Amino acid sequence: MEPQRKQDPLARAMVRAHRVDAGFEAELASLGEDEAARTALAWLAERDLCAWAVPAAWGGAETGGLCAADDVSVRALSDLRMQLAYSSGMLDVMLVMQGLGSYSLARGGSDELRALVLPAVAKGELVAAFGLTEPGAGSSLGEVATRAERDGDDWLLTGTKTFISNAGLADFYTVLVRTSGSPGGRDGGDGLTMFFVPGDAAGLEVERFEVLAPHPIGTVTFDGVRVPDAQRLGELGGGLSLALGTLARFRTSVAAAACGFARRALVESRAHLLRREQFGKPLAANQALRFDLAEMETQLVAAELLTRRAAKRLDKGHEAARDVARAKLFATEAASWIADRALQHHGGLGVKRGEVVERLYRDVRALRIYEGTSEVQKLILAKALLSDGPDRGSAGQKSAPRPH
Ligand SMILES: Cc1cc2nc3c(=O)[nH]c(=O)nc-3n(C[C@H](O)[C@H](O)[C@H](O)COP(=O)(O)OP(=O)(O)OC[C@H]3O[C@@H](n4cnc5c(N)ncnc54)[C@H](O)[C@@H]3O)c2cc1C
Repeated sequence: MEPQRKQDPLARAMVRAHRVDAGFEAELASLGEDEAARTALAWLAERDLCAWAVPAAWGGAETGGLCAADDVSVRALSDLRMQLAYSSGMLDVMLVMQGLGSYSLARGGSDELRALVLPAVAKGELVAAFGLTEPGAGSSLGEVATRAERDGDDWLLTGTKTFISNAGLADFYTVLVRTSGSPGGRDGGDGLTMFFVPGDAAGLEVERFEVLAPHPIGTVTFDGVRVPDAQRLGELGGGLSLALGTLARFRTSVAAAACGFARRALVESRAHLLRREQFGKPLAANQALRFDLAEMETQLVAAELLTRRAAKRLDKGHEAARDVARAKLFATEAASWIADRALQHHGGLGVKRGEVVERLYRDVRALRIYEGTSEVQKLILAKALLSDGPDRGSAGQKSAPRPH
């Protein structure tokens, strides 16, 4: 049995991802944002983990048959994110951004550009970023207003992207911009195209800001940034489907990160409730808190199962939009609740800076917002439910019509 396990590339990667010692975890949490991000990326690169964010066909990890060679395994990414988020939000975000920022290049870039960039992303030598959101375009990407105007063989990009993870650290951005039509309305998504833009392009400026939990993020402005047509990703006007295809591939792993944070919160709660005594007995002797633990674990396991099911279906190439939306909605909401309970169990310590549960409470919150808010997941689910009827559960099929 053992030799077979040794041959499983994901199992080997999970062992490497597991070795986050407490000292390194605390060091990452104490560093400034950029230093923490760079240190986290170097840690991932040393263990060859960034390779799991890039298809094997372009220098990424051989998945041992988990998915097609020209794709990224959602199961692998999800397992790794569960593991990394358990220890550090920064390790988690630096891994996933390598994939989120480069996937549209893997799908839509020229062979030359892919060969130049993707193997370096897989080694953690180039840092990737993904630019969809704008001040006027968040949940509704049809509102994207950043324009690309044709200029000979080049395009000139003008506009503003905001809430861009890795802004300022990134060696390149894959961005969604308007090549025709106008923002908004029913046809707003038709004239959008994706481009690959180097981070040091003339006319590209970054302004950083801080969010609730440490996360390298900022606003990127394009002032006539010149991009050759060879750096167009996919078809003219095919940008929205490329961007949504990227989100469809990576969204399940957000649910996985939520599970990682939540599992850690549960472990911290259990330890504290057993250790801390009040009214002459351990907190864990109180039925109200025991019930809390039971419910936290039930929600966590349900979230993990939904996440694994979505990941498996995606890797097998099945239609999985509802599985993905369910996993992201449930896991991120459940993880927020679990982190909140864990903080409450710690009393005053729960809000003390430097405590693990205080960090988890902040780390988990943004997951309900990025890569499609909880409300957007509900819109996806309700639309499918109303048009196709309820899912049959584990069979993942429509239910038979009920007799009247
Ligand atoms: C930490 C972090 C990292 C991020 N990283 C990136 C990145 O790397 N690249 C990138 O492009 N973007 C990134 N984002 C942006 C993120 O994807 C957007 O914040 C998200 O899509 C929501 O858009 P918005 O903030 O404009 O909110 P809005 O779309 O303005 O929504 C505001 C609220 O209204 C709700 N709402 C909107 N429409 C409806 C509706 N029809 N029905 C019901 N409710 C609705 C939303 O659910 C939300 O609660 C990041 C955000 C965060 C917080």
